[in-house]
Amino acid sequence: MTVWKTVSTSVEMTEKLGEAIGKVAAPFDVITLDGDLGAGKTAFTRGLARGMGLSSRVTSPTFTIVNEYNDQQGVPRLFHFDTYRLSCVDDFYDAGLDEYFDREGVCAIEWSSVIEEALPEDRIALSISGNDNTREISISFPDRFYEAFLKVKETMEKEGMRFEDPGM
Ligand code: ADP
Ligand code: MG
Repeated sequence: MTVWKTVSTSVEMTEKLGEAIGKVAAPFDVITLDGDLGAGKTAFTRGLARGMGLSSRVTSPTFTIVNEYNDQQGVPRLFHFDTYRLSCVDDFYDAGLDEYFDREGVCAIEWSSVIEEALPEDRIALSISGNDNTREISISFPDRFYEAFLKVKETMEKEGMRFEDPGM
């Protein structure tokens, strides 16, 4: 597992980070997004969808719990969750939502801490905090994503983003 820390200075930069990760994301990847209301979890997912080549407008799934986004052939590719309104992990299991992890798409999950025990260990985890236009973002990912994240880093460094690996 690797943990990188970075800073986003605008909503556009957070979206671009999502876009860069969307470009390297593959079916069955799980990306968790934690941070307070207004942290930029949905903004990140908007970029993620764009990076995956999906043209639909991403809106917050707060009331629907999960929104599905299809590619131009109508194949579902992105499952965007917001588990804020679930009171515990049993709500997640009872609604059969864990079955999404077996579907051939990327899962992006806002407020994932509510369903912590249902989450696969093999996942990309972002945690976002900050205020005004500044967001400290911590990104942790399993070793198998290392090459992919070097690409993300390269793309984002061109956008002026700096990365810090606390393990280095
Ligand atoms: P969440 O889904 O985490 O509740 P949203 O993505 O819906 O958050 O909203 C984030 C809000 O914060 C937006 O209004 C956005 O314009 C604002 N914002 C300001 N700076 C940033 C930043 N660096 N990254 C992301 N959002 C930012
Ligand atoms: Mg949101």
